[in-house]
Amino acid sequence: MTIRLYYTDPYRSEFTANVVDRSEDGTRVYLDETAFYPTSGGQLHDTGTLGGIPVVDVIDEDDRVAHVLSAPLPPTPAPVAGVIDWKRRFDHMQQHTGQHLLSAVFEDLFGHKTLSVHFGPDYSTLDLDAEFLSRDRMMAAEERANALVAGALPVTVTFEDAATAAGLRKQSDRAGTLRIVSIDALDRSACGGTHVRSTAEIGAVLLRSAERVRSATRVEFVCGVRAVRRARKDFESLTRIATSLSAALDDVASLVAAQSERLKESDNARKKLEKELSSFRARELYDRATPDANGVRTIVIRDAATIDELRTLAQGAFEFQKVVVVGVLRSPPSVLLAASEDSDLDAGKILKERLAAAGGRGGGSPRMAQGGVPDAAVLESLVSTLVSRV
Ligand SMILES: [Zn+2]
Repeated sequence: MTIRLYYTDPYRSEFTANVVDRSEDGTRVYLDETAFYPTSGGQLHDTGTLGGIPVVDVIDEDDRVAHVLSAPLPPTPAPVAGVIDWKRRFDHMQQHTGQHLLSAVFEDLFGHKTLSVHFGPDYSTLDLDAEFLSRDRMMAAEERANALVAGALPVTVTFEDAATAAGLRKQSDRAGTLRIVSIDALDRSACGGTHVRSTAEIGAVLLRSAERVRSATRVEFVCGVRAVRRARKDFESLTRIATSLSAALDDVASLVAAQSERLKESDNARKKLEKELSSFRARELYDRATPDANGVRTIVIRDAATIDELRTLAQGAFEFQKVVVVGVLRSPPSVLLAASEDSDLDAGKILKERLAAAGGRGGGSPRMAQGGVPDAAVLESLVSTLVSRV
């Protein structure tokens, strides 16, 4: 059985211990006691070194704690030194204690119980028993949590018998001794994780998004150093946007909204002009084309940028009688064939046949069809058969 030093002293970042067992290859090591926290209760494991070798994972095996090393630990009768990556661990302690605080605040202010929690490498979440959480409530909870941080309430750990432990926020289903983490006069929760000793050490509490997940509301939050780092990132992103708009930071949101409105308007205006222009162009191309024996005029368009532009031009050409449009796109090599109803031609049928002969694929309706071919040379011979239709 491994003695877990973090239960009674979560601030211990260095220790020595005896190796009591190890895997054959020496990369999985068991100690008589350890300060390394294994992944459990939603909290991520510690990293650090054991005998100078990096610890990459710590696994809770009920009775024992397994330390997974990046290289074998040589057999040794002497105690080995363990060093915890304190920056990572303290960050976990800030997020974890912040979660206890937030769970208490949400329940005390609004009666929203915490259903589950998740601690991630970038942010943490708690799922609240609430179908909706307004921005006002988020802000009130954030403000209250930060006031309790400023109040520097002691956070203590006691070991109590499950049968007699009273006043727990959530009844534990465990029997025997419970490890109870208390935030002075605010919260008592059974928990095996690592916590800071005062709410002051949680640092800033920053609530981010709240989104509905099934019938619960998932609140994303960051605490302490992480909150500062997140705020710094947000500030830098916002500053880049503000600089590109030559605007003050606080004006960015309204400016972006105004610009996107203007963009929508100019998009609509552009589409209208494009439609008008394509009808002029279609007229010009139609006038220039010579009718064949059946009076059908064939227009070839080679300068369109997209298949959508070709479609718009073909639609424009349908204003005239007995017209066929052959549209050519170089990249990817593709072709559009459109035939007006009075041309007595079936664009879909013709193109399908020609594409099959050219090793291409595609199809469409009797009025408009499109398809692609393997390369530019095939494209050109396909276009000439479509233009001559022989
Ligand atoms: Zn906890």
